[in-house]
Amino acid sequence: MNDLFARHRQVLPDWLALYYDEPLEITHGEGRHVWDADGNRYLDFFGGILTTMTAHALPEVTKAVSEQAGRIIHSSTLYLNRPMVELAERIAQLSGIPDARVFFTTSGTEANDTALLLATTYRRTNTILAMRNSYHGRSFSSVGITGNKGWSPTSLSPLQTLYVHGGVRTRGPFAELNDRDFIAACVDDLRDLLGHTRAPAALIAEPIQGVGGFTSPPDGLYAAFRKVLQEQGILWIADEVQTGWGRTGEHFWGWQAHGQSGPPDILTFAKGIGNGSSIGGVVARSEIMNCLDSNSISTFGGTQITMAAGLANLSYLLEHDLQGNARRVGGLLIERLRAVAAQLPGVREVRGRGLMIGIELVKPGTDEADPKSASAVLEAAREGGLLIGKGGGHNTSALRIAPPLSLTVAEAEEGAAILEQALRSAY
Ligand code: PMP
Repeated sequence: MNDLFARHRQVLPDWLALYYDEPLEITHGEGRHVWDADGNRYLDFFGGILTTMTAHALPEVTKAVSEQAGRIIHSSTLYLNRPMVELAERIAQLSGIPDARVFFTTSGTEANDTALLLATTYRRTNTILAMRNSYHGRSFSSVGITGNKGWSPTSLSPLQTLYVHGGVRTRGPFAELNDRDFIAACVDDLRDLLGHTRAPAALIAEPIQGVGGFTSPPDGLYAAFRKVLQEQGILWIADEVQTGWGRTGEHFWGWQAHGQSGPPDILTFAKGIGNGSSIGGVVARSEIMNCLDSNSISTFGGTQITMAAGLANLSYLLEHDLQGNARRVGGLLIERLRAVAAQLPGVREVRGRGLMIGIELVKPGTDEADPKSASAVLEAAREGGLLIGKGGGHNTSALRIAPPLSLTVAEAEEGAAILEQALRSAY
């Protein structure tokens, strides 16, 4: 065990998830690559969903952050904050939500907490609908609604939560159904739940589940849910923490694959928008955002330095059409991985959109989840110089691929070749 790992084990909580038998210390990065403390270089196929939306050490963001750090970092809300207003204007416009107001937080957890605060206050009930296998953060309320029990370390909750089917397409009681029948069965399930409870405040859902393994619900599922919800005035909170900012290629937001019934009532975002600076946030119609009757500020939510990072990063994303890049390069990568998967009995499915790609592993010849092989592939990929992620329900048997959105075709091919080797070594 290396010295830093030993020290980590002494002072940090046991429940902090660490990848790899010999955990990695990443010391620097550039573009789509990172380096460890021993000088080994890795192609980063996971950092895009964690922190790095566009590219590691993007000079435009570094410049904006260091200039702002040299100027002022002060209260984000007690005085007028130009970068916060500018970023809010851009996000309000991009969100698709009419008459939108934006509130900045420091994380996805705090964004979802705020969304729950708004929805429950607006609707005057603390009952929430959430999806099975979902993940929404680590505060008391977001843990309380998280459907993925591997990430829900307490069964206590300030909210009453009812879980809905539909987030996972490949497993569960409706897995054999075609898309239309699947949606109909999920809508029946939702109606059944609603028949047994006072109208909940909101349904919170990730358009594609992230921690849950980059699942792929059929397009239109949430539009069908929406019709039922709207009959009772129940809000839809789209948790876009992983699916936002063009990652899925075809759409700027994940909700747009379900957009027939309009934008969500509340949208939450976080992760890579600051390219490593901690920005989260909530967008909602002003009527919902303004339902709180007293002050509710966040000291660090929207500080000038994080807003400067967000503005520079978002400009880069839009000016370089990284959404289009995600569609093109992600499309090639999915095709390439599907061709490999067709030869390997342990790969049940390659699913995804744009640069959000999941690979579901099973014990060959069965339908049983295969978390051991998922860990083995992760280790083998690292040996080959590629970082990927894992996810899924209790048995984390899905591999997750989410590179920075500026991934090139050559890098996609290089990563696919390493991954192919890693998959072959596990099966
Ligand atoms: N929602 C989703 C969909 C997430 O994936 C995450 C983080 N994995 C969160 C919320 C929580 O975000 P944070 O870790 O920034 O609190």
